[in-house]
Amino acid sequence: MDCSILRKKFNESLFDIYNSEELNIIFYIVMQNLTNKSKLELMTSNYKLGNVKEKIFYEYVNRLSNYEPIQYILGNTIFNNLEFDLDNSVLIPRPETEELVDLIIKHECKKEKILDIGSGSGCIAIALAKYILRSNVTALEICPNAVKIINKNASKNNVEIDIICEDLFTFQSKSTFDLIVSNPPYIVYSQKYKISKNVLNFEPHHALFVNDNDPLIFYKVILNFSKNNLNVDGNIFFEINDIFHHEMIQLVSKYQNFSYKLIKDFHGKKRFMILKKNT
Ligand code: GLN
Repeated sequence: MDCSILRKKFNESLFDIYNSEELNIIFYIVMQNLTNKSKLELMTSNYKLGNVKEKIFYEYVNRLSNYEPIQYILGNTIFNNLEFDLDNSVLIPRPETEELVDLIIKHECKKEKILDIGSGSGCIAIALAKYILRSNVTALEICPNAVKIINKNASKNNVEIDIICEDLFTFQSKSTFDLIVSNPPYIVYSQKYKISKNVLNFEPHHALFVNDNDPLIFYKVILNFSKNNLNVDGNIFFEINDIFHHEMIQLVSKYQNFSYKLIKDFHGKKRFMILKKNT
């Protein structure tokens, strides 16, 4: 069946879930995966799928129509121009987190010893190890399944990182770091009703949600860890929930040796906090 008919069927099956821009992006991701052709080749020739691939195409459409994210269907995604494998034991890396990685890469500070807390797919740790020369990156992750994925992604991207499978709440280390980064769970359960089905029904809730009674708990533990394990002049980069940016400022103000800066994401939301340890 040729590409234009497939496109029509694709749109008809999924128009109530995705807008036309999203449909366009997802259609080409699917077709590129099935044909190994570039987007340009697909757009400029009326490409046909054989019977076997057509069957897979419809399987994908069926899964998409059940709100399953394309990244889980294909088992991979692109993050900061690198390819990452993933399954639903880890969060799908977000464009905001790509911005966080860019911020770190551009920031002028010492970045020899880096710790990524709550590494998930390893996207932050691996992208930093790839793009920051002479860095020594450690990824801390509680979930053994995720650790397997981090390992796979590190070798897929030809980087060596240290991976520690441990709970942040009991984690102790003799090492000190120049830079600590974390994108911890930061959506409160009371915001759950706002979250779309493709996130809620598929992504791991322990990676997304935090209890309403202590929404900054991960940041608190990381700040306490930083008392002994972050070098003077070292930096912390947090991804945060913009609705809690005032509370974040209050929290950080309790640590007198830290200065901070809030940075907006591409949506204009206060999404990142950079902290510097001064003494
Ligand atoms: N660090 C990973 C990411 O940014 C996982 C984050 C998480 O599970 N909260 O995608």
